[in-house]
Amino acid sequence: MRTVLGLVTAVALLLSPVVGAVGAAHADLNDVVKALGAASVKSLQYTAIGGVNAVGQSIVPGLPWPEYNVKSHTRSVNYDTASLRDEQVRTQALEPARYGGLQPIRGEQRLIGLLSGDVAWNLVGDQSSSAPIALADRQFQLWATPHGVVKAAVARNAAMQGRTIAFAAPGRFNLKATVSEDNLISRVEGLLPNPVVGDIPVVIDYWDYRDFGGVRFPTRIRETTGGYPTLDLRVTDVRPNAAVDIQVPDAVRQDPNPYARVATQKAAEGVWYLTGGTHHSVVIEMQDHIVVVEAPLNEERSAAIIAATRKLVPGKPIRYVINSHHHFDHAGGLRAFVAEGVTVITQDVNRAYLAQVLGAPATVRPDIQAKSGRQPVVEGVGERRTLTDGARVVEIYRIQGIMHHDGLLMVYLPKEKLLSQADAYTPAPPNVTPPMPPSPFNVALAENIARLKLDVGDMLPLHGRLVPVTELYHAIGARP
Ligand SMILES: [Zn+2]
Repeated sequence: MRTVLGLVTAVALLLSPVVGAVGAAHADLNDVVKALGAASVKSLQYTAIGGVNAVGQSIVPGLPWPEYNVKSHTRSVNYDTASLRDEQVRTQALEPARYGGLQPIRGEQRLIGLLSGDVAWNLVGDQSSSAPIALADRQFQLWATPHGVVKAAVARNAAMQGRTIAFAAPGRFNLKATVSEDNLISRVEGLLPNPVVGDIPVVIDYWDYRDFGGVRFPTRIRETTGGYPTLDLRVTDVRPNAAVDIQVPDAVRQDPNPYARVATQKAAEGVWYLTGGTHHSVVIEMQDHIVVVEAPLNEERSAAIIAATRKLVPGKPIRYVINSHHHFDHAGGLRAFVAEGVTVITQDVNRAYLAQVLGAPATVRPDIQAKSGRQPVVEGVGERRTLTDGARVVEIYRIQGIMHHDGLLMVYLPKEKLLSQADAYTPAPPNVTPPMPPSPFNVALAENIARLKLDVGDMLPLHGRLVPVTELYHAIGARP
């Protein structure tokens, strides 16, 4: 069967140049440049409205990414300086709030992401912070715009084969674009590195091209990532050669790898809270091994966590890493732990998925796990599991009835009265008035603490900061 299919494919490949030559009348890259009006375009700005989805933030693995309304999306690109700025104003789409990605949004949420050359960063208020985790995606987004495709292809001497233009940015993305009969870019297919799944496909469709002062640009843009919708935009305005001047801020230049920064706080004897810029972990020392709670973000973060752990507890191996849930920002460091031979513990609903993706190849940017060739060992937890060495007790519970995720685990140390969890409760900065009505996720966590009769003193949230449990009750306007 395999041989027959192989033969059919080979024949089809042999025939396709002939078919292409008859149907396409020798279209080449110059025809596409001409049709798009790309030669005169050095920069471009477009504005759109529609919907966006948060990649890697589904309720359980294998379901679509959660949706937000896009009140406005403004993308500014400068092809000469290889820079990009995306500004998106989002509002809550799902009522009640459910799944991941910074929900519930109250009012409007403004997200600004930037790229210049090989530097990616985010802007929150007037604070710029390095975001190397977004670099490959933003470079792909820049060169996957219709004009970006042809400019990159011309710069790389990539010829058009039939109706296809293909090129790669090593370590960042592989890109294949389809040219329509009227010589416009109709589809871009990318393959990008992803910390959780190895390689992830991104497909962008462009249609309803219109003329904007001699430059043609699509007014409909739809994108999928990993097979599920991520963007659905109606373009309302395009300004070719708008002034786009994007400079890397000093704060970003001085902090190229924020994931390497680990601050260590002792929470109890043999228990440490390892914090970073956005995502944290907990290290628990057992008799003859170590348990780490959470491997977030990416391989760089895990390298820093593992190094810090070895410094805190020299000579004991890390045996388990407990994963709170499969959301990509919380699972992105797992592959590096698997490469070290560490067993992953997760809720049952995530088990089969993680066992598969943590062993999947990473071909675009081979990571330490792809190079190790290790088979992941992933153990599932139903409602609860206890790890103990006879002295220390580590209790793992599923947080029930929370709409952030169906398989969300929290970790409780009964003797130390410590509770660690992700995304159910993130303490607000001190002296900030709690939102009204309270976050339903916070309420669900408090209900689980009551249901399980946990005697919590301090909380070690995997975002935010160490707080007494009274802060949680304050946040929901309740007494313990
Ligand atoms: Zn989450």
